[in-house]
Amino acid sequence: AKGAAQMFRSLHMKLVLIMVLLTVSLMMVVGVFLMNAVVRFYLDDFNQRMRDMFSSENREFYEDLTSPYEGEENGVNGLEDVLRANMGELGVDGLTRNYFILDATTGAYLAGSDDELGETLNKSPNVLSAIRTGEPASGSDITADYMDVAIPITRGDVTYIIQIYDNRQSASQLNSALFTLILQSLIFGLISSVLLSFLLAKTMITPIERLTDGARRVAAGDFSRKLEVGSKDEIGILTATFNSMARQLQATIREAENERNKLDTLFLHMTDGVVAFSRNGTVIQKNPAAEDMLGRVIDESVTYADLFADAAPITEVLSLEQPAYLDRERTAGNRTLELLMAPFDQERDEGGVLVVIHDVTTQRRNEEMRREFVANVSHELRTPLTNIRSYAETLADGAGDIPLEMEKNFLGVILNESDRMTHIVQDLLTLSRFDSGRSELKLEKFPFGAAVRDIYNAVLMEAQRHGHTLTMDLPDQLPDIVADRDRVLQVMMNVVSNAIKYTPDGGAIQISAGRNELRVWMEVTDNGIGIPAQDRPRIFERFYRVDKARSRESGGTGLGLSIAKEIVDRHEGIIALVDRPGPGTTIRIELPIEGPAHGK
Ligand code: ADP
Repeated sequence: AKGAAQMFRSLHMKLVLIMVLLTVSLMMVVGVFLMNAVVRFYLDDFNQRMRDMFSSENREFYEDLTSPYEGEENGVNGLEDVLRANMGELGVDGLTRNYFILDATTGAYLAGSDDELGETLNKSPNVLSAIRTGEPASGSDITADYMDVAIPITRGDVTYIIQIYDNRQSASQLNSALFTLILQSLIFGLISSVLLSFLLAKTMITPIERLTDGARRVAAGDFSRKLEVGSKDEIGILTATFNSMARQLQATIREAENERNKLDTLFLHMTDGVVAFSRNGTVIQKNPAAEDMLGRVIDESVTYADLFADAAPITEVLSLEQPAYLDRERTAGNRTLELLMAPFDQERDEGGVLVVIHDVTTQRRNEEMRREFVANVSHELRTPLTNIRSYAETLADGAGDIPLEMEKNFLGVILNESDRMTHIVQDLLTLSRFDSGRSELKLEKFPFGAAVRDIYNAVLMEAQRHGHTLTMDLPDQLPDIVADRDRVLQVMMNVVSNAIKYTPDGGAIQISAGRNELRVWMEVTDNGIGIPAQDRPRIFERFYRVDKARSRESGGTGLGLSIAKEIVDRHEGIIALVDRPGPGTTIRIELPIEGPAHGK
């Protein structure tokens, strides 16, 4: 409202100023014209009258002037008499208008209606002209403060100059009266113009004020009120236009807001991290995913340099031509992040740099694992192949010379190695079937306790061969479970065989089982070589072996536990190393009694 008042004041001031200037200039023009006209009228009137009086047509007066009386001694007195007798007609009153009789050659004052004035008066241009030419002179200067005529008159033998001199006092008086009048009307005009300007201001400025208020509201985002269109004039049109503009603006803003909300939601929930920077590197936008991936809070104090300077300087990104972008990779904590960096809005100063962050950790880890896996497979297959080849070569080279016993021995190794390869290939096939999801579980209901006992019986002989004490600890009541029996037996067998394999002869191996609410469990404990702490997290990885030589010696492929884990995972169970003080190892298997919840 303060601003509106200010505007009102300034507009109003302008209006008043215009009115005042208009009035003053009008009055001035009128005044100057009027006063000029008055002077000119007086001048013209004076000249006209003098011309009429002194013309030779005005016979009587002319003859009176030029013919001396009988017995006249001094022409001046005669002239004076004639002039005095005609004072009325000449308009001579002795105050504003006088007559002077001058010497025709020197212009000296001889007589007149006002001696004092006549004697002191300078010779006017008309007088000088009359002296010089001997002709009447009536030139007049409108700017002078007097008017006069000079007429040479020859009376008898002597020539005189008659000067009629008017000090224009009546004109001046009239003019000053006019001036006061104009001044008065000017004051009236000014007062009425100020009043008028108030009236005008009211009718013109109030709608403008309302419009200003409306514009201010719209600028503040309030579209609730429509302005009233009060008139059909320009201001009315402006108000209507303003209304429609506000309506359109509102629609546009709504649309933009809608769009922004959509984008915001997308931005908030997208899994990729996004951070936008201004040209000078300050953060404009960021989403939670970005903070999560970079492992730090991104607030206003963080700049591009803090986050990505090591990937690429901001100037490099800004200098890119769209649609080019930079693709960088870096690690943050234990994650691998791919950074896609591109400039946006390059033409405008508001532009900046957008960084999209992909978490490629699993991707990279998978790639790494695949590479490792391929390397492992090749290595595992090459060893037996090399053996087979060298023994076969030896046999081929020494055909006939090799003792039968040795030959048998060699062939035994070859068979063994090919068995090993078959074993590895079979295990790999099993795993690949799991990986591709082609291997389906054949679920059936069977008694869990019986399965454990079967395993115990199956490995008892082998354990005894190594001098191990194998014990079993089973509760009386173990439920039937739903699972793929053959696979579960495979897992149990693998774990128990490992215990036998990795325990020096004469060890103690215990198999125990039980039920824990909705699950059954089995634990295999040995007092063997155990697994070093640093290898514990990895023994379920494919081809991972603590001691390669020892494992191979005992016919291991390094795939047994990874297959076991695949099978148990499929059953939605758990297989894990029990964290307990040594010596030896305990492996625990847990399976849901009702089978995997997600079918198959
Ligand atoms: P392998 O065919 O070599 O036995 P597994 O996948 O069955 O492969 O086992 C992986 C590795 O885990 C083994 O090579 C061995 O080093 C270690 N391991 C498994 N069970 C035991 C155990 N009971 N005691 C000590 N080490 C074990």
